Formats: sequence, structure tokens, C-alpha cells
Amino acid sequence: MPIPADLRRKPSSVKIHVSSGAGVDISWADGHRSHFDFAYLRDLCPCATCNDLRAKTESLSEASPAFRSSTALPMFKPKPRAQSAQAVGQYAIQISFSDGHSTGIYSYEHLRSICPCPECSARGA
Ligand SMILES: [Zn+2]
Ligand SMILES: [Zn+2]
Repeated sequence: MPIPADLRRKPSSVKIHVSSGAGVDISWADGHRSHFDFAYLRDLCPCATCNDLRAKTESLSEASPAFRSSTALPMFKPKPRAQSAQAVGQYAIQISFSDGHSTGIYSYEHLRSICPCPECSARGA
């Protein structure tokens, strides 16, 4: 007997639109569909380096709200795109980004938890 919760982490179809730059579309076994922009995924890269960076940025902006607003200004940084992507076994995808970063492995469990659709964001907030 499968545990129902597992359906939420199991993709029934995964489409990674590398050449068009359209992002990643996942249909889940429970019928839910998610769309992820590559820039969004780059921001939420789960690798240790990016986790550290995010933790630092968060503690800085908590300490000083002015820091947050100053860093909210657009930087001269092109929007990251994907250069290539591949499946990692049955449980994850790995994406190489145009800024040279490729250590992020996005497990389907992680992807489902960061689904940006209104339904999921409402529940996660
Ligand atoms: Zn990373
Ligand atoms: Zn969702």
C-alpha cells in the first residue's frame, strides 16, 4: 500500500525547457502541476554554498532593514538561465545555470515544497 503523502513528491511527468528558457514543468502523481522559472530555481538553489549565502543575507537584513532595501536595488546581473539539465536517478534533477553554477540538486520533494503556485504559497506561508 503506498502512503498517500508520497504522491505529493512523485512526479508523473517532468519537462525541463532548457533551450527555450521557459523553465521546468512538473505534473505530480496527485494531479498537481508546478511551473518553475530557472531564475526562481537559481535563487532557491539547495546546495550548501547557496544555503550559507541565503542564511547570511537573511540575518543581515534582519539586523538592519536598511540593508535589505539597499540590496533590493537591481544589480547588474543577467537573469540566470539554464544551460543544461539532467535527471539524477528517480528522485531529483540537476541544473547547470548560465552563471556557471551547477552544484544544486533539486529533489522532487524540495521542488514540491517550493512550488510557487498560489495554492501552495498560501499553504506554506
Ligand atoms: Zn547553489
Ligand atoms: Zn503548487
